[in-house]
Amino acid sequence: MGQKYKVFDIHCGKCSAFVLTYHKYGAGKGILRLYFHRIESPSALAALKQTNFNKVKDVPHLRCPNCEELLGSAVEHKGGKWAFRMRQGYFHRKLKK
Ligand SMILES: [Zn+2]
Repeated sequence: MGQKYKVFDIHCGKCSAFVLTYHKYGAGKGILRLYFHRIESPSALAALKQTNFNKVKDVPHLRCPNCEELLGSAVEHKGGKWAFRMRQGYFHRKLKK
């Protein structure tokens, strides 16, 4: 039994470049945080869940791959899950599924 989730593409709010694809669980409408283990692509970001950062503050900020706008910063959330805390208003999301 798979969990239900929605697939969102996240785009830069400034230049509209594609940033990443995210699997969102739960009913909340907003995207406040992007948990590393639910980032589907690109591979460099999806691989964050497997890498060996010692501290969450060692993780690079999430930036637009095109214009380098700062979109989010890595934080540790409840339960020790790491996520990017997203800057509201600096990105667009598009529901794919
Ligand atoms: Zn951009």
